[in-house]
Amino acid sequence: MTITRRAPLATPHLATAAQLLEPLRAQIAGTLITAAHAEYDTARKIYNVTVDRYPLAVVRAANAQDVAATIRFARDHTLPLAVRSGGHSVGKHSVIDDALVLDLSGMKQIAIDPAARIARVGAGATSGDLAGPASAHGLALSTGDTHSVGMGGLTTGGGIGFMVRKHGLAIDNLLAAQVVTADGAIVVASPESHPELFWAIRGGGGNFGVVTEFTFRLAPVGQILGGDLMLPATREVLRGYLDYIAVAPDELTTIGHLMHAPPAPYVPAERVGEPVLSILVCWTGTIEDGERALAPLRALATPIADAVAPMPYPAIYQFTAHQAQPIGVSIRSMFADELSDATLDAAIAALEHATSPYSAIQFRGLGGAMARVSPDATAFAHRDRRYLVLLLGIWLDAAEDATPHEAWTLRLWEAIRADGAGVYVNFLENEGDERLRAAYPPATLARLRAAKRRYDPQNRFRFNQNILPEGEAA
Ligand SMILES: Cc1cc2nc3c(=O)[nH]c(=O)nc-3n(C[C@H](O)[C@H](O)[C@H](O)COP(=O)(O)OP(=O)(O)OC[C@H]3O[C@@H](n4cnc5c(N)ncnc54)[C@H](O)[C@@H]3O)c2cc1C
Repeated sequence: MTITRRAPLATPHLATAAQLLEPLRAQIAGTLITAAHAEYDTARKIYNVTVDRYPLAVVRAANAQDVAATIRFARDHTLPLAVRSGGHSVGKHSVIDDALVLDLSGMKQIAIDPAARIARVGAGATSGDLAGPASAHGLALSTGDTHSVGMGGLTTGGGIGFMVRKHGLAIDNLLAAQVVTADGAIVVASPESHPELFWAIRGGGGNFGVVTEFTFRLAPVGQILGGDLMLPATREVLRGYLDYIAVAPDELTTIGHLMHAPPAPYVPAERVGEPVLSILVCWTGTIEDGERALAPLRALATPIADAVAPMPYPAIYQFTAHQAQPIGVSIRSMFADELSDATLDAAIAALEHATSPYSAIQFRGLGGAMARVSPDATAFAHRDRRYLVLLLGIWLDAAEDATPHEAWTLRLWEAIRADGAGVYVNFLENEGDERLRAAYPPATLARLRAAKRRYDPQNRFRFNQNILPEGEAA
């Protein structure tokens, strides 16, 4: 893949657009960033470094009224509208050429009521933004595995985090949300108010409106037993890991990566670069019980590194800090209930032949609290899947040729996809209608399409894993 760059102001329509957009400036408290603005080049960047797109402008919203004004302005001038919170969209949907980008990344307000264990969180806050203030009260929300991921995109897709087995998905702890709908109305979505919208935004992605604030119930989480247990990358170890995490206590959530050992301080220098299974551990019970629960994993093989220790919950993010750095990435993913020996062997072999030392294959154990929620309670219906598998072809430099890394991902994907049982919408690239259907069972998709017809019949929110309004043909 080659990246074509164009100089923004050499493109006359961007200058014309700036004039057209000028009246919007007076309607918002936030910032209108057109192509001539000093921050335009920063504002159009997202997490994936290969994305080099030129939006008409970026609106840095300051509040829900700005969001409503921008949605109405885009509607009245028939401008395409992309929505961005943390900018980590796997489908690269949050900045689009010649669209208006509604950027909520400045809306990071966090208000915690420790007695009620409730947090009101601006959609532009990230998982890391919330973890620190919540931890100060001995509380936490199960969000994602990387501190920089935005709550806006993560939560509307579901939110599978470090405590998913104990405390469920992020949406399982969502009490209400403030949403700006396609007609610019600011509404509350909750079990009592716009219940169908509330159902749809819990897993249906950004199709139904722009969430400006989430109200979450937090869990009491003090010290966790967390960190990285690094084992040799053999089939026996991987099988032992997968078998154990399916039956382990709910307090234990893990994220395993087949990867090359990084030069982390806890990895012996002579083992750096070796193929390993790095198991990120998050145990939320007593430390003594956690040590007992981890014993079967530690017994799988002599650890290459064991950096698991008591720590406050936010400290777990230090083990994924590298993931927060912008990268080029090619992703395929699937839920699975059973993973065959052939799949495990293919994954281990792919690691040996990886086109990049940064590429990895991720295995998460699911179940527990996530599986105890009824599949029709929210738009996230794949409740009882045992595993989440993620193939990550990773490179660091935007100028690098992506083709070999993308081919690596796709080759492995073709080798293992027969074991798949659905897909998580937030880990989909732009993979076509069949794959989007794999994210939602037929009854869920039909209900989502009915909600889309009601809340966004013109499909104004279409830069996402797009759900067409009921009655509209693909
Ligand atoms: C490094 C990395 C780690 C990840 N780890 C996890 C993980 O552990 N668990 C997990 O569940 N997911 C994870 N994800 C996937 C992540 O949840 C999605 O990529 C999510 O869309 C990112 O949200 P964002 O706000 O950062 O992205 P953005 O690019 O800002 O938004 C993505 C899309 O979400 C929608 N959206 C964004 N904000 C809003 C809003 N305020 N209202 C309505 N719709 C909105 C829009 O359609 C937008 O196109 C990870 C992704 C990356 C890149």
